[in-house]
Amino acid sequence: MTDVLLRGGRPWGLDAPADILVRDGRIDRVAPGIDAPAAQAVDVTGQLVLPGLVEAHCHLDKTLYGGRWVPHSADDTLAGRIGNDLARRSELGVPSVERISALLWRMSGFGTTHVRTHTDIDPLVGLRGVEAVREAAAGIPVEVRQVAFPQHGVLTNPGTAELLEEALKNGVEAIGGLDPAGIDRDPVRHLDLVFGLAERYGTHLDIHLHDGGSLGAWELELITERTRALGLGGRVTVSHAYALGQLDDAYQGRLAQGFAEAGVAVATAAVYSFPVPPIKKLRAAGVTVACGHDGIRDLWGPYGSGDMLERAMHVAYRSTFRGDDDIELALEAATYGGARALGLEAYGLAPGDRADLVVLPAGGPAEAVVVHPARTLVMKDGVVLHN
Ligand SMILES: [Zn+2]
Repeated sequence: MTDVLLRGGRPWGLDAPADILVRDGRIDRVAPGIDAPAAQAVDVTGQLVLPGLVEAHCHLDKTLYGGRWVPHSADDTLAGRIGNDLARRSELGVPSVERISALLWRMSGFGTTHVRTHTDIDPLVGLRGVEAVREAAAGIPVEVRQVAFPQHGVLTNPGTAELLEEALKNGVEAIGGLDPAGIDRDPVRHLDLVFGLAERYGTHLDIHLHDGGSLGAWELELITERTRALGLGGRVTVSHAYALGQLDDAYQGRLAQGFAEAGVAVATAAVYSFPVPPIKKLRAAGVTVACGHDGIRDLWGPYGSGDMLERAMHVAYRSTFRGDDDIELALEAATYGGARALGLEAYGLAPGDRADLVVLPAGGPAEAVVVHPARTLVMKDGVVLHN
C-alpha cells in the first residue's frame, strides 16, 4: 500500500496548515513540512481537511435513488406514509440492491465513510432488506451498520419480534424501536423487549421517537432509566426525539442532564417542519448529537441528496444557527458526534486514527457547512477514492 502525503491542507481543529502523512491505512503524522519522498504527494494547499463524514440515520433499503422519478403521493400523516410505503414497495422493487449501491456510491463521493441505516423488518419483507443492504455495501468503500428496524410496529405486528431477534443472531449491528407509545401503544413492554435484545446480543439500540409533548418526554425518561439500569451507556441513541424540541427550557435541561449521565445520544435529521432537538443545549450538557438524512428519495418523501455537509446545513438552519461557532456544531454532529453514537474507534484527525478523510475548498467549518462545495478528495482507509 503506497503512503500518501496530503500537503498544505488545514486539518479541522488546528490553527495552522499541516501536512498529513498516511501509512498503512492510518494517519501516521500531522505536521508542517513532512519529508516523505516515497509517498504519493497530493497538493491540497489551503483546503479544509475533515474526518470522513458520518451518516448516522438513514433508510438505505427504502431508497428509489438512481431509478426513474417516482411521483410522490403519500398522504401527509405518519399512518399515511407507512401505508404508502407498504402498498407500493413491491411494485417498485424495494429493496433494490442496484439502487442502494447507487446511493452508497453517491454518498462516498460526498465524503461519507460510515453509515448507520435502519432496515425494515416485518413478516412481509422478512430479512430481505438486511440482505439487500449487505449485498449492496459489499463492494463499496463505505462502512455500513444496520439497525433491525420495526417500521410497522413490534407488539402490534405479530411475528416482528422473532424476526428482529433473528436479524441480531444474523449479525445485524443494532436493534431499533419505534414510538413505543404512539405506534405500539405499550411503552413498557416495547422498551423491555428492545432493551432486552440489545442487552442479550450486546448490540447498539437506536429508537425512532416521533411521539411529541409530555408523552414523548415521558418515553425519553423511560429510555434514560433503562439505559442507566442496564449499563448500556454509549450504546443507546434516540432518533428524532421531537418531544425534546417542544419542552420548556427547564425540562429540556433535566432530560439533557439525564442523557449525558446515562450515555444516551440523540440523532436528528432536521427535516420538514418537525421539531429539532436543542443541539446547543444538549452539547453544552455533554450529550452526543449525531445527524443523518432519514429517508433519501423514497416512498416517504422525495427529498435528500446523500451529502452530509448539505444535511448539516439543514440542521444548522433549522436550529437558527448564524454564528460560526454554532454552525460548527452541525458539522460536529455530521462527524465526531456520529462517530461517537455509532461507537467508531480510531476516528478523527490524529496520528493513529484511520485515514478516512475529506478535503474541500472551504476556509473553515462554517463555510464548509453553508457552502458545502464539491469535495476535492475523499480517502477511505488510506486509499484515495475520489480526487
Ligand atoms: Zn428514520
